[in-house]
Parts: sequence; C-alpha cells; structure tokens
Amino acid sequence: MLPVVALVGRPNVGKSTLFNRLTRSRDALVADYPGLTRDRQYGQAQVEEHPFIVIDTGGIHGDEQGIDALMAEQSLMAIAEADAVLFMVDARAGLTSADIGIADYLRKQNKKVFLAANKVDGIDADSAVAEFYALSLGETVHQIAAAHGRGVTQLLTLALTPHIEALGVEKADLEAEPQELSEEEINEQAPKESDKIKLAIIGRPNVGKSTLTNRILGEERVVVYDMPGTTRDSVYIPMERHGREYTLIDTAGIRRRKNVTDVVEKYSVIKTLRAIEDANVCLLIIDAQEGISDQDLSLLGFILEAGRSLVVAVNKWDGLDDHVKDRIKTELDRRLGFIDFARIHFISALHGTGVGHLYESVEEAFVSATKRISTSMVTKILDMAIFDHQPPMHNGRRIKLKYAHAGGYNPPLIVIHGNQAKQLPNSYKRYLMNYYRKSLKIMGTPIRIEFKETS
Ligand code: GDP
Ligand code: GDP
Repeated sequence: MLPVVALVGRPNVGKSTLFNRLTRSRDALVADYPGLTRDRQYGQAQVEEHPFIVIDTGGIHGDEQGIDALMAEQSLMAIAEADAVLFMVDARAGLTSADIGIADYLRKQNKKVFLAANKVDGIDADSAVAEFYALSLGETVHQIAAAHGRGVTQLLTLALTPHIEALGVEKADLEAEPQELSEEEINEQAPKESDKIKLAIIGRPNVGKSTLTNRILGEERVVVYDMPGTTRDSVYIPMERHGREYTLIDTAGIRRRKNVTDVVEKYSVIKTLRAIEDANVCLLIIDAQEGISDQDLSLLGFILEAGRSLVVAVNKWDGLDDHVKDRIKTELDRRLGFIDFARIHFISALHGTGVGHLYESVEEAFVSATKRISTSMVTKILDMAIFDHQPPMHNGRRIKLKYAHAGGYNPPLIVIHGNQAKQLPNSYKRYLMNYYRKSLKIMGTPIRIEFKETS
C-alpha cells in the first residue's frame, strides 16, 4: 500500500509545478505513450527511497458550488483518502480569501495537513509567510520553492515518514538504478510458474466490473470474502481455474449484490491505483457503448507506468450493430494502437460471451512478464537489431550500443550499455523495444529498457 499525498490549493499557487517535479523523476520508462501524460492528476513519486502516490487535486477553490461536480467529488474524495494533505499557498500573492475558505474546509476533515508557502525563492521568506500563520494549520508554515525544489524533500519526508513507518512500505528497489544481476540471481528472481496470478479488474464506473466479477466467480459459488474497511480497499478474492490459482482484485466491490445492503460503492481512483500497483496482470475494461474516454486513457497510463501486464476487454459487445462494431474497432486501432503488446477481447459480461477466453491472454501476459531471459540472448538480439538498423549519429559521432543484459522481471527489464547511449532518439528506442518484443515473443506486458553509459 503506497501512501497518498494530496496537493491542495487555489489555482496558480504552484501545484502542477510541484506535481511535475515530483512525478518527473520517475520516468525511467523508455516509451513515450502519446496522449497519456498531459494533465495527469495522479502520479507516482518518490522521496528518498520511498514511493508514494501524489494527487494534484486541481479543482478546489474554497467555494465548492463553483466547481464541476464530478471533479470536485474526486478532489474531495482524494483529500478524504489521502494520508497527508499538502496545502499550498502563494508566498508572493499573500493570504487570500480562497486560502481561508480551503483552510476552513481542511480543518473540518480531521486530517494531517501540512501548510506550505510556495515561491519563496528570491524574496524575504520569513516576513512573506508570517501572515499564513493566521490559518492555524499545522505547527508551522513550511517554506518551499516548487520550481526549484527548495524545501520540498524535507517537507515531504516530514509529511510521509509517519505513514511510511505505519504502513511498513518497502524500499523502492524497483525504482533504483537497475542492478546488474548474475544469471543465478535472475533465475532466483523469476517467479515460479505455480505462482498465483493477482488479477485486477480495472475500469471507470459502469463499464461492467461488478458484472464481470460476478460472472467470473459464478452465481452458484458462495465466496467468503472480507468486506473492505474503507472505500480505498479493494476486495481480494481467491479463486482457482484449470489448476491455476488466482487472486481477483475487485475494485468495484461485488457487494452491490442484491442481498447485501451496503451503501453504493463510490468509485475511487486511489483504490484503483493501489489495485494496479498490487496486481500482476490488469484487466482493463472499456465500455463498447461509450467508446474510449480520457478516463480510460488515464487508467491505461497508470497501468503502463506501473509496468503491469495488461489485457483489454471491450465489454457490452452484445446487441451492437455490425457497423457500430466496425466503428468501435477503428477507434480502438486509432487510439490504442500504441499498446500493440496487449490483447484486446470483445466480451459481454452480462451474457458471458468471450469471458472464458480472457484467461488465455491473462496467462500469456503473466508468463511473458515473468519469463527468464538470458544475457547472451539479449545481447544477441541487440546485435541483430543494430545490424538491421544502425543507431543514428549524435554530435558527429555514431551512438554505439555494446552489450545488454537482463535486469529483472515483471515487467522484463533490459539494460543496454554503450557510448552516448542516453542520447538515443525515442524513435530508435521504440525500434529496439519492438525488436525485443518480437524476438522474445513477449505479449501482454510492457518491456522496460534502461540505457547506461560505458566508455
Ligand atoms: P497551479 O495552478 O497551482 O497548478 O500552479 P502552477 O504550478 O501552474 O504554477 C503557477 C505559476 O507559478 C507558474 O507560472 C509557475 O511557474 C509559478 N511557480 C510555481 N512554483 C514556483 C516557485 O517555486 N517560484 C516561483 N517564483 N514561481 C513558481
Ligand atoms: P461497474 O460500475 O464497472 O462495476 O459496472 P456494473 O457491473 O455495475 O455495470 C454497469 C451497468 O452495465 C449495469 O447496468 C450492467 O447491467 C450493465 N452491463 C454490464 N456488463 C454488460 C454487458 O456485457 N452488456 C450490457 N448490455 N450491459 C452490461
């Protein structure tokens, strides 16, 4: 469970600047996926060696009527679910009535709030922030300059440390520089084939997650499961099929079943993000009748960023005219063409059509993600790729890629060493990624490639 920090504040105080600074450092991923990175509200970040989820809550003005209802609801839910709130004010603009409105709201939330006065670069910070003590939030007004990173690490460490300790979050060894593993270590790391597949069912509200979960579990089977304690917990359901053990991570909550009189589950992005983090394979559900929305794309972005294996299910395929089906398929090609590694299924959770075939792709994705790849193999493939298509020149010198080794699994990580290797243009990086994918027959999982300078 990653801790969650929500960035709150009126427009223009520097939330996105801080958000970008916090999430940018994480971009070890080689692929640039078009259309996924703009205006993201949720990101993964890391302070010292601790990863966490950061949310730019965007739409809070301290005057809740003024905000688009859905946006506001997600923002307020984000605050409710966050482990800590970073309330940002603008040290240059001074205290405003909107700040006071937000502070009043936050005080009522019974939440750990850290007050940060931003933009303290190049001004007399102490006198500029003095007036913010009137908000009486937290022990002190932290002075930061998001644009320069000043004060940010200290503040975050303070905001996160108790939660990291409470949650016992492990060190983010995944995010560290790729280690050079020996063959033995790689073998040891590779999960056993008998391992359980943790399968998260992901999708925005109403795409059919609960219907599918119920379909998968079968009506006749009585499954005992724990009710989640809070809205941010998914339901974990153990199950078995054809000798393979699974844990279904149910973000929708099948407690909407008629005989369970629980409040209707609220869709929670944070819960979804946590489920993605926790899964081996994500089953992303898209609603055929609604088409692909920005929300689908941002969930997809998260799955890719987390490096999770992916199977896409286009649901509600029943009762559509042929020409509508054709139109949807064209749209999928156009907008999801860049995730050519993922299998796409057309299903009806309601009638059960196509549901059985999902397992084949889930299994394939899991096996691909955990496949053992030898160093000699990755170097050989690198040689073949270079032979077919030379890397370009940089500063008048040809970029030289020398050798490669496998760096880990889940997702597969390939580390390539060379001269000026980091200068490779994205087009060539993509070429290498596709070359590896085809040669290694890896389906259903992204491949990560890291480049290292070797003289
Ligand atoms: P948001 O609306 O709260 O997300 O604010 P933005 O991140 O878009 O920032 C608003 C403006 O403040 C931009 O022009 C930023 O460049 C500027 N800004 C953000 N952080 C700092 C800082 O630390 N120092 C200074 N001087 N300007 C900053
Ligand atoms: P969730 O919010 O993602 O869990 O979505 P639900 O499972 O609650 O489904 C939302 C609505 O879509 C319900 O009215 C379902 O009956 C309907 N639905 C789900 N799957 C299908 C399907 O395959 N075909 C059709 N036609 N409707 C479906």
